[in-house]
Amino acid sequence: MSPLMPADTLPASAGALLVTPRAGARDVRPGLAGVDPNALAAWMLERGEAAYRARQVADFLWGRGAVSFEEMRTLPAALRDGLVAAFRADTLVETTVLPADAGLTEKALHRLDDGRLVESVLMRYPARDGLRERNTVCISSQAGCAVGCPFCATGELGFLRDLETAEIVDQVRFWRRRLTPLGARVTNVVFMGMGEPLLNVEPVLAAAAALSDPRRFGLGARHITLSTSGVVPGMERLTALRPQYTLAVSLHAARPALRDVLVPLNRRYPVDAVVAAATAYADATGRRISYEVVLIDGINDTDRDAAEMARLLRGRLAHVNLIPMNPVAHTPWRPSPPERLAAFADALRASGLATTIRRNRGLEIGAACGQLAADQAAAPTPAAVGRRRERLERESAAALAGGGA
Ligand code: SAH
Ligand code: SF4
Repeated sequence: MSPLMPADTLPASAGALLVTPRAGARDVRPGLAGVDPNALAAWMLERGEAAYRARQVADFLWGRGAVSFEEMRTLPAALRDGLVAAFRADTLVETTVLPADAGLTEKALHRLDDGRLVESVLMRYPARDGLRERNTVCISSQAGCAVGCPFCATGELGFLRDLETAEIVDQVRFWRRRLTPLGARVTNVVFMGMGEPLLNVEPVLAAAAALSDPRRFGLGARHITLSTSGVVPGMERLTALRPQYTLAVSLHAARPALRDVLVPLNRRYPVDAVVAAATAYADATGRRISYEVVLIDGINDTDRDAAEMARLLRGRLAHVNLIPMNPVAHTPWRPSPPERLAAFADALRASGLATTIRRNRGLEIGAACGQLAADQAAAPTPAAVGRRRERLERESAAALAGGGA
């Protein structure tokens, strides 16, 4: 059978809200980094191979970061041929890297087998003040995103497709290969690139499991952060597993009417249900929830917003991360000025909430994590941008004028 099948015969994602341009054909061979070790062992057994062959392949893949079966020189040629026919050693067809921040931030643009583009970012934090060096990789879980938050460049693309497990893991393997010759390693992974991880929940959980498995990528579960705009069923699925991953919730506003505008998913999963689901995760795992708040000048950064957020989160196992919005082309909005961020932080801290302000990395390459979008959508016409701005201004004005709800 040919390994290729047309993209439009793939099952549609539950999160698909937007119809998108057709991409090329998909390669149906699963990426090896997404194959469960037991499944690989079973595959070997079926072919009459010795059990240790699966471990040998795993050593090449995880230990040496192999991206082709040709590199697995100690395997018999017939086995290598069998592996090539059944799996892909790497799912990233081509990667372009752009540096920023004096080399401390790098953005990778990965082309997948069907031509779709996704992005990942490496953020390096050199050792200082007795703290060890950290190298955080921000990865994508979907091409595009169906949620459509109006301040997010990925949201502007609409939903393109879910990534398979190996496509997620291979982004991290890419950065590991790049860091190894520098004597450095990936210390943290955050699912804050393109896409809504919990609308692609099974592949994302399988990827996180591979990354945290000591026999595979070997990162501590606590060093993996899943970020969600508030997909309650996905959060419940996660809670049932009781992993030690950090859960980040993109909150942005406490008041439902305003959150409806900033995170359209709020209409399906309202903020109270989202916070309840996050609290259940904290209770089940003992892990503090990280609430992310992108602050937009004059929209969600007022004293009233801070007071409402303090009321919502007070007394919970929570940490609040305030992020100045990165400007994006299609909105009329601007980042909150530093003094507003500081005042917002002070108001939350006064309620006993641990609060930090995050500096955006890689602004100049448009790669501050979470605001990723390759130039894969046709550029909108000025008229379309104008219409979009008008609608946003109208909706946010209505939400801002709205009363308590
Ligand atoms: N879909 C998930 C994860 C990817 S987005 C989520 O929304 O949580 C990761 C983070 O980047 C989110 O907190 C999101 O709100 C933030 N983000 C998106 N666009 C941004 C922008 N223009 N400026 C700053 N942060 C942004
Ligand atoms: Fe999707 Fe997250 Fe962007 Fe919202 S912020 S559109 S959920 S990627």
